[in-house]
Amino acid sequence: MKIYNSLTQRVEEFVPNEPGKVSMYTCGPTVYHFAHIGNLRTYIMEDVLEKTLRYADYDVKRVMNITDVGHLSSDADTGEDKMIKGAKREHKTVMEIAKFYTDAFFSDMEKLNIKMPDVVEPATNCIDEFIKMISALLEKGFAYKAGENIYFDTSKLKSYYVFGNQSEEELMVGVRDDVTEDTNKKNKNDFVLWFTKSKFEDQALKWDSPWGVGYPGWHIECSCISMKHLGEKMDIHCGGVDNMFPHHTNEIAQSESFLGHKWCNYWFHVHHLNDQTGKMSKSKGEFLTVSLLEKKGYNPVAYRLFCLQSHYRKPLMFSFEALDQAEGTYKKLINRIASVKPEGSTDEAALKEWKDKFVEAVGNDINTSMGITLLYDVLKSDLNGATKRAIIADYDKVLSLDLIKAADALTPADEHANDDPELVAFVEGKIAERKAAKKEKNFELADAIRAELLEKGIVIEDTREGVKWKKA
Ligand code: AMP
Ligand code: ZN
Repeated sequence: MKIYNSLTQRVEEFVPNEPGKVSMYTCGPTVYHFAHIGNLRTYIMEDVLEKTLRYADYDVKRVMNITDVGHLSSDADTGEDKMIKGAKREHKTVMEIAKFYTDAFFSDMEKLNIKMPDVVEPATNCIDEFIKMISALLEKGFAYKAGENIYFDTSKLKSYYVFGNQSEEELMVGVRDDVTEDTNKKNKNDFVLWFTKSKFEDQALKWDSPWGVGYPGWHIECSCISMKHLGEKMDIHCGGVDNMFPHHTNEIAQSESFLGHKWCNYWFHVHHLNDQTGKMSKSKGEFLTVSLLEKKGYNPVAYRLFCLQSHYRKPLMFSFEALDQAEGTYKKLINRIASVKPEGSTDEAALKEWKDKFVEAVGNDINTSMGITLLYDVLKSDLNGATKRAIIADYDKVLSLDLIKAADALTPADEHANDDPELVAFVEGKIAERKAAKKEKNFELADAIRAELLEKGIVIEDTREGVKWKKA
């Protein structure tokens, strides 16, 4: 498999630390609000990465955190605490907010067929781990105390900016104009490991620490949670591009200073979902959620297809017109799959051959649109029905578009959803007439109706599920 690595800014051959095994970490959501469909684009593409690795027979262990403490409005440790903001907005406690939005996130994942990572760990479960790492960083001279908070000292690093393509402008992405810089910091890029002197009088969650009662900064949680479950060396770390700086840059700074060696080999970043006003973000007020798409009558899986149609390393522009198109494509695709009957026996050699094609196509830096193209190639091929269905079911282990399930659930009327409605009404009418004729044992008339339809290019077939028809 090949994968683009943000560290080297190249597509590289993927070589895991341990042959056949992959350790993978995903930055999870900050659970102060619903996830918007932009966040979910990132989780969909990470899900495809995980499933492609599994499909290529790697034994994957994937870990995700849930940020329920420490994430301030600006990723650079300034602004308001996101969890407190959520709690105030809804007149609830921080933990109530965290529980509600964690559950809502899981429900969105389910609707979008995103697999639950093997381990999901909330930050508030790991306070001891954070304290241990911060203590070690202080001992090694990589951290200092100022204004009663503990900061990471970026001047102690040989190089801080590890994602080479970061421009000064991109680097400032986490720092908003309306918040003042923390004057305790010795260097501009230093970041908080532990707050004891909270900027927020009403900080709800606090823990005892060697530096006084307080709470952790945001970045420390991903370093500690990943090491807790994946050890000191990791293969792939994922997130959205906005995580590259400062979050992932800081994660690398503290993890490698703590470990004394390289920590993670491949960094996978999904580009943003944008709308007409720019990057989709929660701070803009109104934002699109999966429930809202459902309320508007969309199938969430059509949104998944919409994401899979474009490459994860390109920004994706959302509009309802574009989603309508994806939904139309999805319906047609399902109709085509529904017309493939499980006839013949599965050709195992062909199944293997088409699997290899898929791994080669999608395994080339998660080229999902090539995966979709292959799906149409299967449908167009002269393989028998049973083999086609087996390959489609196999591809769906990665694509997760409910392909066979949705096709099998189609009612005869749905099967013709994309046909000319006048034709559908005419044929259905004739089928009803023929049914009535047969009931009256008027087989002559029934045969005449069948012949009349055939003359118009319509073939009907009596099946256990009722009468089906198709164009000859
Ligand atoms: P958050 O809940 O804000 O911590 O974000 C969860 C994930 O969504 C992170 O990996 C972000 O990088 C990612 N993300 C944020 N905004 C967008 C967007 N507009 N499009 C795609 N991913 C995003
Ligand atoms: Zn993270």
